[in-house]
Amino acid sequence: MKKINSINYGHKILRSAIICLIIVPSISHFLWKMTNQIQFQLTTKISLIMGVIILLFLFVLLKIELYQDKKMDEYYRANSHSRLSLKNGLFECQTCGNNQVKPGQKNCIVCGTNFKNWSEDGGNKKQQ
Ligand SMILES: [Zn+2]
Repeated sequence: MKKINSINYGHKILRSAIICLIIVPSISHFLWKMTNQIQFQLTTKISLIMGVIILLFLFVLLKIELYQDKKMDEYYRANSHSRLSLKNGLFECQTCGNNQVKPGQKNCIVCGTNFKNWSEDGGNKKQQ
């Protein structure tokens, strides 16, 4: 599943909900009081329902995003003191992302992490 990042569009969804919950109902309620035409009352109700649906959608989206963040954080914490072998024969430090770690290095020269999956055989040990 694609990683949800509501920082790019969360404010737009919230703005749509505010328009449906406050602005449109206020205007149509005012028009209903002025003209006494029933379709303005109907517009108010439909707009309020749409606003609630948009808010529920945003809530579900945020719940999914928080769950994904939690899983990514757990994965990061579980692998932070390890190194990952790359196709070019080097390794990537999973703590800082330094991808210039050589097979014989026991620790990262950038962040100082001691690799827990380092081994004497040049890093060919099976990844845990
Ligand atoms: Zn590092």
